[in-house]
Parts: sequence; C-alpha cells; structure tokens
Amino acid sequence: MNAVDRALLARLAERPAFHKGRYRNPDRTPRHGLRSFLRWQRETGGRFPTGQAFPLLTPTPEQLQAPAQQPRITWIGHASFLCQMGDINLLTDPVFAERASPVQWAGPRRFTPPALQVADLPPIHKVLISHNHYDHLDRDTVLALHRRFGEQITWYVPQGVGQWFRRRGIHTLVELGWWQSSRDARSEAFFVPAQHFSGRGPHDSNRTLWGGWIIDIDDFRLYFAGDTGYGSCFSEIGDVFGGMDVALLPIGAYAPRWFMQPVHVDPAEAVRIHQDVRARQSIAMHWGTFVLTDEPMDEPPQALRLALAAAGLADTDFQTLQHGETFILDA
Ligand code: ZN
Ligand code: ZN
Repeated sequence: MNAVDRALLARLAERPAFHKGRYRNPDRTPRHGLRSFLRWQRETGGRFPTGQAFPLLTPTPEQLQAPAQQPRITWIGHASFLCQMGDINLLTDPVFAERASPVQWAGPRRFTPPALQVADLPPIHKVLISHNHYDHLDRDTVLALHRRFGEQITWYVPQGVGQWFRRRGIHTLVELGWWQSSRDARSEAFFVPAQHFSGRGPHDSNRTLWGGWIIDIDDFRLYFAGDTGYGSCFSEIGDVFGGMDVALLPIGAYAPRWFMQPVHVDPAEAVRIHQDVRARQSIAMHWGTFVLTDEPMDEPPQALRLALAAAGLADTDFQTLQHGETFILDA
C-alpha cells in the first residue's frame, strides 16, 4: 500500500468547499435547473424496459460468514457492495428498497432485486455513505441495519449528513469534509471529492456534501467513488494516495450527455478515473439496478469493454460483476 502524502492532503483540506450556505464542486459545473429537467423528461419516453432481466446470483450466508483471507467484494446491486477484509465487514451505500424515492409508490423503480437482504448479512462493522440521494441513502435500509447491528456499526457520512442520522437515533458517526480523515485501531478512512450534487427535497440542494471514501484496513486500500462526473479531483486523489488496491467506480446513468455529463461519468470517463487514481483493480457499479436515465440498461458494460480496449487495458483490469457476484482479490 502506498504511503499517503500527508502534506498535500493537508493543503487540499484547506480549500473551501462551502459557499453561501451550499457546497460546490472543485471544478465549476453548470447547474441544470427545472427547465432542463423538464426538457429531459419531455424528450424521454416510458423507459422501464420489459421482458429483459439480468442474472441474479445469490451468495449463501455460509459463504459470507467465513472470514475473508483475501479481500472479498460482493455486488448487492447499484452502489451497494458488501466488502469483507479479514474479519471486518463493510457496506457501501446500502439500498434494499424497491424504489429510489421518498415514497414507495412513485419514483425510479428497481429493475434488479437486491442480491442480499439485511437478514442475510454477516455482522456489519462499517457503512460508507457517499451522499444523500435516494438511490444511495435509503431510510428503511438504514433503520433495518441499525435495528439489527446497533452501535456495532460505524457510519461514515459526508459533512452535513450526520444530522439525518442523529434525528433517527444513530450516533456512531464519522462525519467528514473533503480531504479529512479519521482513524481507529485497524483502519483509516478519508473522504475525498467527487463532482456531483446533493439533496432529498426541493429546499436542500447542495446543503450537505457528496464525495467518495478511501479506507485503509490493515494493508488493503479500497476506494468507493460514489456518484460523480469527470473532474480534476481524480488526478489529485492519485497524487495524494499513489494508488488503490480496488476502486469501485460508477459506469451508468450517463444519458443524455447534455444533461448528465457534469454529474455522472460515462464508461470512457470511468476508465480515466481508474487511471487517474492508479487503481490496481476496478469494479463497476451504478448500472443495471435502478432505471434512472436514458441509456439502455445493458449498454454500460458493453461501452466499458470498448473504452478499456481503446485505452489499451484488459477487461480484467476493470471488471463488471453480475448482481450477487463475488470478486476475490488475488494474493
Ligand atoms: Zn447522486
Ligand atoms: Zn446515484
């Protein structure tokens, strides 16, 4: 594992991200207002595909209970992974809901069911939350995890999101701004920028922060990028950390480009992030699960393969898992 450039990290942490009560991206990005949103909705037909499904693998609880000699990563769907390192089990953006929405009768529907339920999980010790959008932060899932595991879980949340948890009686929180870090006996977590936005309703846009997490556990480094467009922050992340063992990177929700480019990378841009952050291995996420945007549901992995070939990389460098599939890092 490469040493962290602490001096550069400290310099970057001094850069303000908060401006007049709202957070903003490191690179200036256009803000699409209601008009653009309505134009997109008008140009988009009914987009829920029928008669098509992805394979859904179901990992057995026995498989998941065994300690992970080598880092073991299971894709639950969308941005939700179960990452197992030794005897530490971690979840990223756990969402088990049928809809990514404030209500379960409207909003983006789930296309592929979650590969695991809360009851199937081994003991969870850490949960990383990238931002407060509904497809990343789901109230019912958080409450179910809290009921089952209580204060055994440390929740890693972006600056400003802690209040949402405290209101629900959850206080075992690590709440960080960009380039800040927090250490415990066996691990150190860093919150890093992404190019995105936040908000759960009409009045809280960009009031809380968004970003990615890097966590060093023993001598393994995991990077979970969250939701992001392509920006200058990724080469900075590469400079500070010098490399990742595994990067979990988004490849879906990119069409139409005129609307999505500032906030969601396409597969070719995801490959640039893989290179910028110097990932030894990347795994694709944020596709094939919720119907959020206009690209065909099965397009992102195909486009990823083309982008990897164009960059002279192998398919194995940046893998697409099936829902429920487990990836085990080579020794
Ligand atoms: Zn988002
Ligand atoms: Zn998302």
